[in-house]
Amino acid sequence: MEIKRKKTREINLGKIKIGGSNPITVQSMIKNRIENIAAVRNEAIALQECGCEIIRLAIPDIESVKHLKDLLSLKIFKVPVVADIQFDPDLAIESLNAGIECIRINPGNIGSEQKIINIIREAKKHDAAIRIGVNSGSLNKKFLKNSGGSALEAIVNSTLHSVRLFENNKFYNFKISAKASSVMDTISAYRILSSKINYPLHIGVTEAGPAFTGAIKSSVGMGILLSMGIGDTVRVSLTDDSTLEVKAAYAILSSLGLRKYGVDIISCPACGRTSTDLKSAVEEIGNFTAGLSGNFKIAVMGCIVNGPGEAKDADIGIAYGKKKAAIFIKGKVVKRIEIEKALEEFKKELNNIII
Ligand code: SF4
Repeated sequence: MEIKRKKTREINLGKIKIGGSNPITVQSMIKNRIENIAAVRNEAIALQECGCEIIRLAIPDIESVKHLKDLLSLKIFKVPVVADIQFDPDLAIESLNAGIECIRINPGNIGSEQKIINIIREAKKHDAAIRIGVNSGSLNKKFLKNSGGSALEAIVNSTLHSVRLFENNKFYNFKISAKASSVMDTISAYRILSSKINYPLHIGVTEAGPAFTGAIKSSVGMGILLSMGIGDTVRVSLTDDSTLEVKAAYAILSSLGLRKYGVDIISCPACGRTSTDLKSAVEEIGNFTAGLSGNFKIAVMGCIVNGPGEAKDADIGIAYGKKKAAIFIKGKVVKRIEIEKALEEFKKELNNIII
C-alpha cells in the first residue's frame, strides 16, 4: 500500500522547496548555545553529514544575532537555516537582515498584529519563509476564552487566524506547525488543519522525551499523520544528540516508504534457537554499512532453520547456526562459513554487492 500524500502549496526555503510533490524534508535544531561558535559549527556539520535538510537555531537575544552573523560567515551551512525567535519581532527582523532563509514565530507570543505584519514585510523583502509555530503552551488568551477552554479548538482557531492575517498581507511563503501537549491532541489539530488549509505542515511531537521513549512517541504521532498523507517536513524532538533526531526521522519516513535512508538492516529479535551474540553482530554490520546510501536490505538472523526463509525479501543476509553461519542472497543460501570467520566473510560479500 502506498501512502497518498495531500498535495499542499509549494513554498521556498532558500534552495529547497517544501510541500507540493517535493519529498518530505527532515529537520533538526542545534542544541548548543549559539555563542559557542565552535560547538555549533561542529554540530551543524554533523547534522548535515547525517542528512539533515533544514537546521534551526535558537535566537534568544540580540547578542545571538551577532553570533548568527559570525556563523553564517563561516559558510558551513549548505542547507537552509531557520531562526527561532519565539516572540521578539526585533530578533526576527535582525535575523532576516543577517540572511537566514526562514523565521519561526509563535504568533501567540508576539503581541500586536502590527508586529507580525512588520515581520511579514521584512520576510517578503528578503524572499524568506516563515513558520507559524502555534503551541498549546503559549496560546493567546483570547483564543482560549473563545474556545471555552478547549486547547485543541484554540490551537486550530489561532492557526487559522494567523493564516488569514498572512493572506491578508499577501504573504504565502509559510508553513505551519501546531503542537498540543498530548500526542492525540496534536494528531487531531493537524487533521483538522489539513482539512481546512493547503499550506505545508511541519509535523512533530513536542517535548517527546529521551531517545527511546521520544522516538516511540514521535513514531506513533508522526506515523499516524504521515500514513494519512499529512506532513511536508518533520522534526523528531529528543532530549539527546541532534543527529539522533535526524536518524529517527528518516527511520520513521523510510518505514512508511516515504524516504530512503542508507541501507535497511533487518534483524530477528533472537530467541532460544540462537547460539550467537546477535546484538553485537547487528551493531558490527550497522557500523560497517553506516553512511552508505542505496536501496538495499540486509538481514541478520539468529538461526539457520527460520532465518533465510523469514528474511527472503532481503537482498543479502546472514543466519547463525551452532557451528556455521549461512550467507544467503534473496533467501537462497550461497555459502556456509565457520562462525569465527562468518562476519568477515559476510562483509566481503557485502562489499561485492553493495559498496
Ligand atoms: S530467526 Fe530463529 S533465532 Fe531469530 S527469532 Fe526467529 S526462530 Fe528465533
